[in-house]
Amino acid sequence: MTAEPDLTPLVLGDPAPPGTVVLVGGGPGDPGLVTVRGLAAVQAADVVVYDRLAPTAVLAYARPDATLLDVGKAPTRHRTPQDHINALLVEHALAGRRVVRLKGGDNFVFGRGGEEWQACAAAGVPVVVVPGVTSAIAVPGSVGIPVTHRNVVQGFTVVSGHVSPDDPASTLDYAGLVRSRTTLVILMGMTQLRAICERLIAEGMPPQTPAAVVANGFAPDCVVLRAPVAELADAVVAAQIGPPAVVVIGDVVALDLGAPAPS
Ligand code: SAH
Repeated sequence: MTAEPDLTPLVLGDPAPPGTVVLVGGGPGDPGLVTVRGLAAVQAADVVVYDRLAPTAVLAYARPDATLLDVGKAPTRHRTPQDHINALLVEHALAGRRVVRLKGGDNFVFGRGGEEWQACAAAGVPVVVVPGVTSAIAVPGSVGIPVTHRNVVQGFTVVSGHVSPDDPASTLDYAGLVRSRTTLVILMGMTQLRAICERLIAEGMPPQTPAAVVANGFAPDCVVLRAPVAELADAVVAAQIGPPAVVVIGDVVALDLGAPAPS
């Protein structure tokens, strides 16, 4: 016998009392990708701290009297330093306000959300995390590239490509990445794309391994470019594609899932 489904309407209040910082993952590009709980937190917020990659259309759901702070746009036109962002979160929470830190994607995927948590914890400010949809999975998925597929690949590895493999600041084991035989998903990798692809090949990745760049995911100007890993950097230059973009390398890129959804 099947159990009766619970049809009680879903009503979610703000997950956090005043004086709390809520780290809300807003999803990449599209305001529709914020979770129900994340939206509830934005609606209840006294202060929303957001930046360049946050889905700013979600701010329309904040209360009219809420303070909206853009920390991607600092007085000097440089990005607001992370210390300053941390201090803002703490200051407003200690003043008894409901603070939301709204980001694009997930707070804990290269989002410095961990540092914000630490700063709040050090000041005795409670933190609530509302996970977000990460671009690492969602952007390739939106154009029909699954990061895993049964009988094709058993996992995926997400790395930041913001430093070149030759840079002493790089902590990645590129030989290990190749040996893992997982799909490689690279965020923040457009500037170093050529160096990264060259290193992967030097470490034994077959040059014909399928690869793709998906730029401006979930936006009207989203572009998908596919090329073997050995040709990807040249193809990106020729097509003049820039960040934000997700790079996917592996056999899943060559899968044909069938007809795409109507655009
Ligand atoms: N925390 C975020 C990632 C922050 S790092 C998340 O979980 O998605 C920023 C990188 O995310 C960019 O350099 C790019 O690689 C990727 N990214 C974010 N939004 C994107 C978008 N709309 N389209 C393509 N890539 C995106």
